[in-house]
Amino acid sequence: MTPFGYARAADRADALARVGSGARVLGGGTNLVDLLRQNVEQASELVDVSRLEGAIRESDDGGLLIDASVRNATLAAHPLVRHRYPVLARALLAGASAQIRNMATVGGNILQRTRCMYFYDVEGARCNKRQPGAGCDAMDGFNRYHAVLGASDQCIATHPSDMCVALAMLDAVIHLSGPDGERSVPLTDFHVLPNATPQTETVLKPGELITGVELPPPSAAVTHSEYRKVRDRSSYAFALISVAGGLAIAEGRITEARIALGGVAAKPWRATRAETALVCVAPTPDAFLAAIREELVGARPLSGNGFKIGLAERTVVAVLGALAGARA
Ligand code: SF4
Repeated sequence: MTPFGYARAADRADALARVGSGARVLGGGTNLVDLLRQNVEQASELVDVSRLEGAIRESDDGGLLIDASVRNATLAAHPLVRHRYPVLARALLAGASAQIRNMATVGGNILQRTRCMYFYDVEGARCNKRQPGAGCDAMDGFNRYHAVLGASDQCIATHPSDMCVALAMLDAVIHLSGPDGERSVPLTDFHVLPNATPQTETVLKPGELITGVELPPPSAAVTHSEYRKVRDRSSYAFALISVAGGLAIAEGRITEARIALGGVAAKPWRATRAETALVCVAPTPDAFLAAIREELVGARPLSGNGFKIGLAERTVVAVLGALAGARA
């Protein structure tokens, strides 16, 4: 690890000024410190934003405003999150360990980087994300955890966050502040697919800071929602597949379906095709399966991860089936 300077931000303006001067943002440090320690990333200055005010409050329209420095554990336990956005609470509790959730911040969770093992192997592996043009050892290597949707011939990594899958399903909006002022970006547009530039992972501009996340008022499919994560062991493991699902049903027909997938792409994957296919149909396992197959028609399996397609189908059918059954 190369030496770096450290400063604790006095307030948001101080953090912005330091980020504008080239400092890296340090939240809970649960990913960035690993990246620095393993020389995957380098930094000359860190600005610690984890002690800035971290509030969770209701917005004027009945949604929720969450400061970026709110800890994952705090967010998961908040009564408004548990009662109005249960999918978010469950996704947060499915992530990492209790100790990490106590440290990790909302902003840091959004910006965490892939856990592709070749990305972290600076001595022995080729990685286009770490070193553009170097090649990708995952393509013909151990790619059990890698992407089946939206990958490119440059990178097949997945985004590791559970929280972001729920945020994608909830139509969350990311609030940013930077040298050109403030702006907002839908979570589903914040992370980008690898294409020819896998080193670019988000639309965050130089000098910008994530200041918070806004959730719209919950719809019926949000209050009746579920998060299910399938992984190789029962705790402290990243998702092979995860599903954030929500259903609203009236008079035997689906009036609103929400589905987001994790573990399948370089970004949380909002399954809009499947959602559209489910509107106005009866909530049956066959309908759920047909809808998710429509979403996965563009899936491209690799040598080690073809099982993810069937696993995604079964998990979506199970989640939506449980939601439909619970409403019957
Ligand atoms: Fe690097 Fe992406 Fe290939 Fe992993 S999948 S080795 S992150 S280029």
